[in-house]
Parts: sequence; structure tokens; C-alpha cells
Amino acid sequence: MATGINRQVLLKSRPDGAPGLDNFELVESPVPEPGDGEVLMRTRYLSLDPYMRGRMSAAKSYAKPVEIGEPMVGGTVGEIVASRNARFAVGDIVTGFGGWQDYALSGGAGLRKLDPAAAPVTAALGVLGMPGMTAYTGLLEIGQPKAGETVAVAAASGAVGSVVGQIAKIKGCRAVGIAGGPDKCRHVVEELGFDACIDHRAPDLARQLEVACPAGIDVYFENVGGAVQQAVWPLLNDFARIPVCGLIAQYNAAQPMPGPDMFSVLRKRLTLRGFIVTDFAAKQADFLRDAGAWVRGGRLKYREDVVEGLENAPAAFLGLLQGKNFGKLLVKVA
Ligand code: NDP
Repeated sequence: MATGINRQVLLKSRPDGAPGLDNFELVESPVPEPGDGEVLMRTRYLSLDPYMRGRMSAAKSYAKPVEIGEPMVGGTVGEIVASRNARFAVGDIVTGFGGWQDYALSGGAGLRKLDPAAAPVTAALGVLGMPGMTAYTGLLEIGQPKAGETVAVAAASGAVGSVVGQIAKIKGCRAVGIAGGPDKCRHVVEELGFDACIDHRAPDLARQLEVACPAGIDVYFENVGGAVQQAVWPLLNDFARIPVCGLIAQYNAAQPMPGPDMFSVLRKRLTLRGFIVTDFAAKQADFLRDAGAWVRGGRLKYREDVVEGLENAPAAFLGLLQGKNFGKLLVKVA
């Protein structure tokens, strides 16, 4: 049984803009005892991740905020030091969400045993954990990279971005990273094997990105938003895909950025996809079959606004642009 002190970092207040140290409070309390079915974990590693900024705010999100006075949430690797749960034994190394504290209780849900011989246990919080899986699923499921395409990702030396670019290379793509500063950029190219990496603080970011992406960008894995997004946008190719994973450049913004609300895209998992009807030419037979039957059956109604005489076409067209037509505008020519 563990005895002693449990240090906890609590959320003391909610930040307005960038968080500060005064938003946190370090407190000490007795180490808790596991109840029936529970285990007590001693934290070995705590993962710090950008999503925690969101949990400090009361704003509506996909996960509930940390309450004032509660320990900050966080993924952890820990050792079981007391167990009243048959699935876990003292000495097991596990990963779960222990939070910012020395010790945490768990009922076992969401706890995963680690094999320290298989990989360093810290990998469970990074490349083999939530960030790695974020990269893997976002890139492959939404980005759908194909060999020969160009994949761009910012925060490229970080937990998610580094995996995105390396998987892009494994899939035969050109991987272009964007990162903060020469050391990170060098690491991204020389150690991680990206084809290029641009410093997002460079005054000619847009120009450098254009040079690094001579065939444009087919997948932009969105990690940051802001200025990087603006530099990427003009380089997107037809049918490019944008997994919207994170917007870290905007997490502290007090005011929403102009343009579409990308936080809604992320939080509500919105799908935005432009299309031109001819993209779906192969669907024409399906369309004629279904729509024809619905019209005949009265389930699909339509209204026409018929203007008489070809000479009236220009005025009718101008009216269309002002909303004067009411229904499908047609000219009866003969
Ligand atoms: P990182 O390890 O990449 O660390 C964050 C990095 O973001 C910083 O090192 C910095 O890298 C970059 N950054 C910070 N501020 C800015 C800025 N203003 N402009 C450009 N870059 C900035 O973090 P993660 O890999 O864990 O997370 C990356 C992104 O993925 C985040 O947006 C995060 O919220 C998101 N995410 C989303 C998940 C999801 O389920 N949707 C899950 C996990 C992460 P640099 O110096 O290179 O710019």
C-alpha cells in the first residue's frame, strides 16, 4: 500500500488568451486508496498535449472541460502500486489517463498494459499512442495519400506531424514539412526523411513552400491553421484532401479568425468538399432512373418560370441574378 503525498496540479482559473502559470495550482493531498475493482497507479510519465489548452476553457467542445479545482487531465504511463482489480497486478506498467498527479485511481476502463520489452514505455504516449494514431488515421482515412502525391504537414517535428510525414514517405509520397526554426527543419529532413521542410517564421514562407511543392499539394494535414494555412491554400491541387486535425496557432486567439470557422470543422467533424457535376458523370443513369420515378410518382415537384421570346433573354438573365425568377428560369423561344 502506498503511503505519503500525492502532488496534483489543479486548474485554478480559466485563461483568457494565452494561459499562464497562475492558471495552475500545485497541491498536496494523501495518496488515495483503491476501492473494490480499482487500482492505484504511480505516474511515471505524463503526456503534455495541445488539446489540454481546450480543456482549460469552458467553451463547448468535443470533450468536457476540466473543472476549476480539478486535476488537469492527461495521458500517463504508470506503475500499478496497489490493485483490487483482477485484471491488473502490482508491478504492471500501464497507460491510461492518470492526469497531472503523482498517483491516480482507476477502475481499469481505458487502462492498457504495456510490455516494456516490446518498446520503450514512453512510446505509448507518442508514436505508439494517441498522437501516432491521430497521424495514422487522419492521414490514411481522410487524406487518402497515393504514391507520387505531395503531402504537407505543419508542426512537422512534433508528435503528430512527424508521424504524418513518415507514413507519407512509406506510402510513396513527397513529404513536405513546415516547422519552427532551422534545427527542427534539419531534423525533419535529415532524421525523419521528409523531402523538404520550411521554417514557418521565414518572411517568404509562401514562396519557399511553393518551391518545395513543385507539383502542388494533394494532402494538407492541418495541424496549425493561421499563417501556414494561408500559405498552403493557393498550392492545393484539384481534389486535394485536408484532414483537419488541429489549429494550434489559433488556440489562444481571443477573437475568431476571419473566414470559415475551422474550429467547427474540427469539432463537429464537418465534411467540406467542392465538386463539379461532371465529376459524377458515371452516375447519370442512376440519376435519371431515380429522379424520373420520383417526378412521375409526385414525390419530386418542380416549378418553372417561363419567359416568352428570345429577345427577353438578357433581361430575364439579369433578373435571375437579382432573384426575380421564381423557379427554373426558361425562355420559350418558339
Ligand atoms: P506537437 O508535438 O507538434 O507540439 C506543438 C507544436 O505546434 C509546437 O512544437 C510548434 O511546432 C507548433 N506550433 C505552436 N504554435 C504554433 C503557431 N502559432 N504556428 C505554427 N505552429 C505552431 O503537438 P502534437 O503533435 O501533439 O499536436 C499537433 C496538432 O495536432 C495540434 O494542433 C493538436 O491539437 C492536434 N491534435 C489533434 C488530435 C485530434 O484528435 N484531432 C489529436 C492529437 C493532436 P513548430 O515550432 O514546429 O511550429
